[in-house]
Amino acid sequence: VTTISHQYASLSEFIAAIFFFEDSYDRIRDLMDEEVQPGIDKEVQKFDICFNDVEFQYGDNKVINGVSFTANQNAVTAIVGPSGCGKTTVLRLLSRLYDYDKGEVTVGGEDIKSISTASLFSKISIVFQNVELFNTSVMENIRLGRKDATDEEVFAAAKLANVDEIVAKMPDGYETQIGENGSKLSGGERQRISIARAFLKDAPIILLDEISASLDVENEMEIQNSINKLIENKTVIIVSHRMKSIEKADKIVVMDNGKVVSAGKHEELIKSSKLYGDMVRKSQLTEEYIY
Ligand code: ADP
Ligand code: MG
Repeated sequence: VTTISHQYASLSEFIAAIFFFEDSYDRIRDLMDEEVQPGIDKEVQKFDICFNDVEFQYGDNKVINGVSFTANQNAVTAIVGPSGCGKTTVLRLLSRLYDYDKGEVTVGGEDIKSISTASLFSKISIVFQNVELFNTSVMENIRLGRKDATDEEVFAAAKLANVDEIVAKMPDGYETQIGENGSKLSGGERQRISIARAFLKDAPIILLDEISASLDVENEMEIQNSINKLIENKTVIIVSHRMKSIEKADKIVVMDNGKVVSAGKHEELIKSSKLYGDMVRKSQLTEEYIY
C-alpha cells in the first residue's frame, strides 16, 4: 500500500511534466503499469550521477552518440551547447522518460534500470520552462510536489519560492483557482509555483531545463534567488542557454551534436574550448549582465 501511494505521489508530479516531455503519454502509461518488484528495487543512498558512453535514438534519428560525464553529489553541473544538441534528451534519459539504447546511466552507483521508477522519481525534482499547471487551486498545484504535505508545509514552500507575494494579491488566497493551465497567471508566476513544488518535494536531485528563459528581468532575478536556495546541498544538473548563469557551476559539460566535446570549469573552458568561448562571446553581445 505504501508503495502504491508513494508511486502515485511521484506520478502526479510526473504528469505535471507532460509539457516538458510532450511526447511521453505512452511512456507514462508504461510506467504506471510497471510493477515494483521487491528485491530488485534498489534504494539509492548516494546521488552522484554518471553517464557512461550512452547512446540513444528517437526512431531512427540518433541524437545521443556516446555521452559520458559525471555529475557529483551536492554539486552543480551545467550542460550547455547549441540548440538541438541533445541537452533535454540527456535529462529525459536520466528521468527514464526514455530508455537509452547503449551504455549506462547510474545514480549512486546503481544502474537506473535497476531502480524502480517510483523510487527514482521520488529522488528527482524537475523544474523547467513550460510548467504544466492544473485548473485547480494554487494550494493543490503546489501540493503536487508531495501529496501528503500539510497546509503549513505548502505555505512554507510557497514562501521560499516567493509564491506568497502573488497569493497575497489573489481574491481567494491559496484557494484561488488558476484557470486552464494556469491561464490567469504570468509565466514568472507559473515558474514560481513549479519551484514551490520542488521545495515541497525536497528531492536530492534537481534538474533545471532552461528555466527563466523568456522572463522579464525582475522576475528572472527573483526566480534566480529562489533557485539558488532550492539547489543548496543538492545534486543539480542545469541546462541553460544563459551563459552568465552557469559560469559558477562546479562543472560545465559542453555538448555538440549528441556528444560531450569538453568538460571543466568556466575559466578552463574559456581557454580550451572554442565552442564554449564562442557561446560566451555571443551571449555577451546579446545578454544583459544582470547577475
Ligand atoms: P536541446 O535540448 O539541446 O535543444 P533536444 O534534446 O531537445 O536538444 O533534441 C535533440 C535532438 O532530438 C533534436 O534534433 C531534436 O529535434 C530531436 N528530438 C527531440 N525530441 C524528439 C522526439 N520526441 N522525437 C524525435 N526527435 C526528437
Ligand atoms: Mg532543450
